[in-house]
Amino acid sequence: MSFNLAARLAARHTDNLYRQRPLLQSPQGPVVQVDGKEYVAFSSNDYLGLANHPEVIAAMQQGAAQWGVGGGASHLVIGHSEPHHQLEQALAEFTGRERVLLMSSGYMANLAVITALVGKGDTVLHDRLNHASLLDGGLLSGARFSRYLHNDMASLSQRLQRAQGNTLLVTDGVFSMDGDLAQLPELAAQAKAHNAWLMVDDAHGFGVLGQTGGGLVEHYALSTEDVPVLVGTLGKSFGTSGAFIAGSEELIETLIQFARPYIYTTSSPPAVACATLASLHLLQTEHWRREHLQQLIAQFRQGAQALGLNLMDSPTPIQPILIGDSGQAMAISAQLREQGVLVGAIRPPTVPVGSARLRITLTAAHTAEQVQQLLDALAVCQLEVSNE
Ligand SMILES: *Cc1c(COP(=O)(O)O)cnc(C)c1O
Repeated sequence: MSFNLAARLAARHTDNLYRQRPLLQSPQGPVVQVDGKEYVAFSSNDYLGLANHPEVIAAMQQGAAQWGVGGGASHLVIGHSEPHHQLEQALAEFTGRERVLLMSSGYMANLAVITALVGKGDTVLHDRLNHASLLDGGLLSGARFSRYLHNDMASLSQRLQRAQGNTLLVTDGVFSMDGDLAQLPELAAQAKAHNAWLMVDDAHGFGVLGQTGGGLVEHYALSTEDVPVLVGTLGKSFGTSGAFIAGSEELIETLIQFARPYIYTTSSPPAVACATLASLHLLQTEHWRREHLQQLIAQFRQGAQALGLNLMDSPTPIQPILIGDSGQAMAISAQLREQGVLVGAIRPPTVPVGSARLRITLTAAHTAEQVQQLLDALAVCQLEVSNE
């Protein structure tokens, strides 16, 4: 009785915030089967189209044959196997950092780093639009917690001046729901000036940005000194699962000793590390995937502008269309679905209240024809056009 779950669930419905899980009945890809119907989908984070790539699948199969399925124990006990170790070394080379620590998920990686580096008496500064896992890491750490206005250096500077103790400045690289970029060179300069450390979670930048897919830090050519803590996830452009933290030898050793979300969990299946080694190779060498993606982004933005849609300032495969009202975002998502196009409606609390949006994501596996199909479907929907 006292929990009153029924009332909470009912309120979620009346607020148009009730969430349902679409049932995926095919592998991830530009065309998927969902709830018994086929759609052209623009909603996954498989930006390079590697989640169902034959070479990655083969690497996972061979990995499972050689290493079995389960990790079997935590890394510190006896779960740290050779494929995990090889992947850490390959990712260190890829990111140009001294050392890398492999984690089971990005959510855990962020909890691990923040709680190991700061605590009571310290300060964590967040961009307002940071991913939930970064905010949760800050809360769990017990450090003083403050959010600055999105990408606003003046707002950040005020907070840096008031910061106490060890200060960690935390930002998404590519903002996950908006697609825009953190101003990393400015952030790195501010951090340095105030003796703070900059931590970048580039979940959506790796694979997509940079000449070899090294993400926003490669794009801006920033060193370990500029960005002492770099987080990447493996479930997006890499197409597999897990995450990594890259930095100095000392940082990684500190995490191994003190990061509870690293210490107290079973290692991920070694075969997943084998698959990720294969996808890392494709991600680095098949530059055409990034080029094709950029062409699709340009095509989509041109077409959407011609339709007068509310595009955001995004140079990345995340191309949201701002709607505002949650009910309307859901209605438009349903209209698209009727036309065979799947796009997620993202609502609060994932995004700020009043900024519900269609989160369109493009991937290297899409064709120009499929992007045109999306634009044609959007043209039919009753969308508010921008008044610019
Ligand atoms: C997806 C995402 C995460 C979480 O990564 P998982 O591996 O899915 O747990 C963390 N940070 C950002 C910015 C993300 O977009």
